[in-house]
Amino acid sequence: MKVSSLCSLALAFAFVVSCAKVPVTKRKQLKLLPEKNLIDMSKTSYVQFLAESKVLPDNDPRSQRVKQVGNKIKDAAISFLTKRNQLKRIENFEWQFNTVNDPTVNAWCMPGGFVVVYTGILKLVETDDELATIMGHEIAHAIARHGNERMSQGLGVQVALGVLQGTTSEDNQNLLYYAGVGSQLGILKFSRMHESESDKIGLVYMKMAGYDPNHAVTFWQKMAANGGSVPELLSTHPSDEKRIKDIQEFIPKIDEILK
Ligand SMILES: [Zn+2]
Repeated sequence: MKVSSLCSLALAFAFVVSCAKVPVTKRKQLKLLPEKNLIDMSKTSYVQFLAESKVLPDNDPRSQRVKQVGNKIKDAAISFLTKRNQLKRIENFEWQFNTVNDPTVNAWCMPGGFVVVYTGILKLVETDDELATIMGHEIAHAIARHGNERMSQGLGVQVALGVLQGTTSEDNQNLLYYAGVGSQLGILKFSRMHESESDKIGLVYMKMAGYDPNHAVTFWQKMAANGGSVPELLSTHPSDEKRIKDIQEFIPKIDEILK
């Protein structure tokens, strides 16, 4: 079924559904769960995750670097959305950038802008531009509401209904799983389409923030050479060559998008 017919169907049921366009790619998407609910639950889970993890202190240079680059990408995203009258997309967001001492090669962003970067992935990062690749990609997942969208498709719907009717802690766990928040339940696999969309949006933000998008290519090459043991970032194992080729093809189009 097409998104537009799903939207009319949803309207017919007067359900909590809205249709919106993803920034940069302008893809039409359906979302079911009120973003505010999802953000509240993400925050609870994020706080819990941090309490159970070895979070680097604010004076650690790695932590400072993640916060600095993350904030620059976030500011670029806000300015992108402001110019296009899309600030509503990040209503209720509470940006946080934390680094955990963990050798896993991973990074993620929960709905609402709650970011975690693992020291394992920082080992592959040489330049701030490469770090900006990660931050741009993760921030893009949240702004594009990929977690919410996933829930609006298939399996997540049942969970979403449960949440709207009254949340149990089990609903909460399931919800966060569908929303892309992997902790005890394992890391969510975003679809190839979501991955590709986040790559593109992230590249636009990194260029706006003054970073060189060409470093996204070197970063993904290193990730590929690392063997791809990356639960979120290489989630559905799109072929590394395809991902890198797509990025190379997209870079010359960024200026046009920013006009
Ligand atoms: Zn991703």
